Amino acid sequence: KIPDDFKSKLHNLLTLQTLSYKEGNVADYIPALAQVPPELMGVVVATIDGKVFTAGDYDTQFSIQSISKIFGLVMAMNRVGDNLWKRVNMEPSGQPFNSIIQLEWEKGIPRNPVINAGAILVADVLASHYSASKLAFLSFMRSLANDENIYIDQEVNQSELIHGNRNAALAYLMKSFGNIEAEVPDVLTHYFAQCSVSMSCKQLAQSLLFLANKGIHPLSNKKICTPKDAHRVNAILSTSGMYDQSGEFAFSVGLPAKSGVGGGIVAVVPNFGVICAWSPPLNSFGNSVVGMNLIAGIAEELGLSIYH
Ligand code: GLU
Repeated sequence: KIPDDFKSKLHNLLTLQTLSYKEGNVADYIPALAQVPPELMGVVVATIDGKVFTAGDYDTQFSIQSISKIFGLVMAMNRVGDNLWKRVNMEPSGQPFNSIIQLEWEKGIPRNPVINAGAILVADVLASHYSASKLAFLSFMRSLANDENIYIDQEVNQSELIHGNRNAALAYLMKSFGNIEAEVPDVLTHYFAQCSVSMSCKQLAQSLLFLANKGIHPLSNKKICTPKDAHRVNAILSTSGMYDQSGEFAFSVGLPAKSGVGGGIVAVVPNFGVICAWSPPLNSFGNSVVGMNLIAGIAEELGLSIYH
């Protein structure tokens, strides 16, 4: 499926983006993210049969932010099974990622697990089912990437806590509806820590290969989740992973994907592999401008849309 000259094609796609980062703005809600050099960009295509294609700053670690919502979700599904879906829905929200308005209308049940409200609900599941949920999360990430060099960026973590009032509001609102079990500060501590994990495009792409391989990590042969849950995560990413631009991303690219305000985007290609692209400047929806262009370019080049 991959042409022999793909490595040079990947470099060309990246070179074409050299100036596009100027169309976006780096997230500035916390100083630690605002300081990241905007011109950095990297991309990785990792396949389930062990091939890895890289270009640019693919080895540079960045704040994974909302991409962490995928991993938290998988851990929570493994821990509580179908009970999770009594507490969180699986519908696109059509609202910004940190919106609070639907949460009151819908009685504290978040629209889906990859908007902030849903991810905080998932953080509650982890905080109440693990004695040391942050450590459990970190070791899950390290084992998926087969790399011990994955860490929680303390500066990002501290800033998230200081600027976390809206997330605290989401958590307390859910608690008022009885949909948060642990104490809210403990839930937020877990949520901010998972958002503050730093990883590279290469580490992210490798760690998510199980979603392209029916729940089995192809490099370790370990079962990470059931085939049904891998399908469910991919479905949620297809409908909700790109904030309120998810419809347009499905329309134009056609891959389950998740982005984060650190500028990373991961896209799963079932039965093929994972693409991860990173460039800090974001468009008005919070998606990396260059990251979207790169994933769109690769998907077109290799004919990867799941809707073909
Ligand atoms: N830490 C960010 C927040 O909770 C994550 C947002 C994102 O990447 O979408 O607001």
